[in-house]
Amino acid sequence: MEIEPSRGIGVNSHSRRAFSLGRLQSEIAACRLCSSMNPWRQFESDAYGTRCTGYLLVGEAPGYKSWEQRRRFTGPAGMLIRRALFQVAHPHYRDLEDLFYMTDVVKCHPASGNQSISNRSPRRCEVQACVGYLSQEIHVLRPSVIVTFGKTAAAAVGRVSLSSKDRVAHRPSYNVLSFPHPSPRNQLTIRKHYASMKAFEAALSKTFCQLIARLDARATHA
Ligand code: SF4
Repeated sequence: MEIEPSRGIGVNSHSRRAFSLGRLQSEIAACRLCSSMNPWRQFESDAYGTRCTGYLLVGEAPGYKSWEQRRRFTGPAGMLIRRALFQVAHPHYRDLEDLFYMTDVVKCHPASGNQSISNRSPRRCEVQACVGYLSQEIHVLRPSVIVTFGKTAAAAVGRVSLSSKDRVAHRPSYNVLSFPHPSPRNQLTIRKHYASMKAFEAALSKTFCQLIARLDARATHA
């Protein structure tokens, strides 16, 4: 998968955007729009990763394990993604927090019951209620590349891109790289596109390698 050259997040505008992002994160943390999301299980702002690379990672919704550890992408699916990056063996970008700002279409953990530790897929009404935050994140972060995992994430980013095209000032200029959801339960879908789970992981590693190469090239020319 080749990545076209694109602009990243400029250093000069970084602090201004960081302020807006902080406010947005506070808004998300205070949000109680989804009555079905009870108890609300959300993240602290430091669980989003880095905003400096211009790369955004979008999943479907946080799992219980991620919420429990206060760290995104730490369930079995998330660990596959982390392993793929670790295999690149770059001295600076060893884990997802080093390379991506990480978010989900639905920000709260969709539990199957009040005390439940198991996950469920987010409901359509929850996606509709929350997708506006993703749109704001994209607007504030202005990523150069968005990597999505799963159909829900790809559809939500597509929806945000389409609605942004109507507003000339906010026309998106990022590349979207979409992958199947890396959950072990999604192996059938993954195998439609890749020879094996190992091949899928290798494709992720290759993409991460390309993203890192762009950052290294940018640093060399800065
Ligand atoms: S899932 Fe999103 S919209 Fe729903 S309560 Fe959480 S932050 Fe608010």
